[in-house]
Amino acid sequence: MVSWRDQLPVVRGRYGVGVRLAEQTWFRVGGAADVLYRPADEDDLAYYLSRRPENIPVCVIGAGSNLLVRDGGISGVVIRLGRGLSDIRIEGDLIHVGAGCLDRTVSLTCRDAGIGGLAFLVGIPGTIGGAVRMNAGAYGSEIKDVLVYATVLDLEGRAYRLTPEDLQMSYRHTALPEGWVVTGAVLKGIGGQDPAELGQEIDAILREREASQPTRGRTGGSTFKNPAHQKAWQLIDAAGCRGLKIGDAQVSEKHCNFLLNIDQATANDLESLGEEVRRRVYETSGVSLDWEIVKMGYGRSQN
Ligand SMILES: Cc1cc2nc3c(=O)[nH]c(=O)nc-3n(C[C@H](O)[C@H](O)[C@H](O)COP(=O)(O)OP(=O)(O)OC[C@H]3O[C@@H](n4cnc5c(N)ncnc54)[C@H](O)[C@@H]3O)c2cc1C
Repeated sequence: MVSWRDQLPVVRGRYGVGVRLAEQTWFRVGGAADVLYRPADEDDLAYYLSRRPENIPVCVIGAGSNLLVRDGGISGVVIRLGRGLSDIRIEGDLIHVGAGCLDRTVSLTCRDAGIGGLAFLVGIPGTIGGAVRMNAGAYGSEIKDVLVYATVLDLEGRAYRLTPEDLQMSYRHTALPEGWVVTGAVLKGIGGQDPAELGQEIDAILREREASQPTRGRTGGSTFKNPAHQKAWQLIDAAGCRGLKIGDAQVSEKHCNFLLNIDQATANDLESLGEEVRRRVYETSGVSLDWEIVKMGYGRSQN
C-alpha cells in the first residue's frame, strides 16, 4: 500500500519521519511528528505548500520556546523553520530578517550596527516567525511596534506582505490564519545609536531576566497571559500555587507564571498542572486565566 508520505512533493529541504518533538521544544516533552519538514529556503517551502497533499494536516514551529507538544505527538507534517530561512540584512534603519532567525541574533546584530529599539528581543528565546505569530514582547515593547511588514505564505504557497494592522496584532495575539507561515519580516529600528550604549542596555536586560526568571530551565516562558490590569504571577501566587507540583512538572519558585519540567515530566503533567493552577486562581480570585503557551497535538484534551 502507498503511504501518504510517498505522496509528499520532492523538495530540496529535508523530511524526517517519526521525529520526536521533545528535542525541538524548550520543555523537552511531547510525542513525535509523523513528518518533520525543514525547508531549504522560502522557494522550497512555497513549492511544498503548493504541491502538498491537501488532506494531510500541516503546522509550523519555530524554536519551540512557547510550545507544549502533547505526548501523543502531531499527525501530518510539522514545518520547522531554521537555518534555511535565517538570513539577516541591514539597510539603513531597516532590518530584513528570515523567520527562522533567533530574536537574540537580531538584537545583537542591531547593537553592532548601532540600531536602537530592538534590545528587548535579546531575552526572548524564539525565532522571528514565532515572535510575529505571538506578538512577542518585553520591557514595554512588542514586535508590532517595530514591524514594518511580515512576509507570509498561505496554505497554497501564495506570498503576502502583511502589516501589523493587517495582522490585527495586540497583546500576545496575531490574526494569522491557521497554518499560514511567516517566512520573514522587515523591522524598523532607530539608526545612528552608540553600540556601546546599546550593549549596556542589552546587558541590563539579560541581568534582570537572569535574576527574575528560570532562564536555564526547561520551560515555555510565561504560561498565562496577563489579564487586563493584573499580573498573572500575582494571581497565581495569591492562589498558593508557587512551587506546586504534579509529577515532575512544577510551578517555578522563582517566577510563578513559569512552569518547569524539573526532570522527567510528561506533557500531560505540565498541562494538568497548568489546568490546576487555572482552577485554583479562579477559585480564589474569580479570574479565568488564558493560556499564552500554545498547545499542539494529541493527548490530554485532544485537538
Ligand atoms: C525562558 C523563556 C523566556 C521567555 N520570555 C518571553 C518574553 O519575554 N516575551 C515573550 O513574548 N515571550 C517570551 N517567551 C516565549 C517565547 O519565547 C515567545 O513566544 C517566542 O516568540 C516564540 O517563538 P518560537 O520561535 O519559539 O515559537 P514556537 O514556540 O515554536 O511556536 C509558538 C507559536 O508560533 C507559531 N509559529 C512559530 N513560528 C512560526 C512561523 N514562522 N509562522 C507562523 N507561525 C509560527 C507556532 O505555530 C505556535 O503557534 C519566553 C520563553 C522562554 C522559554
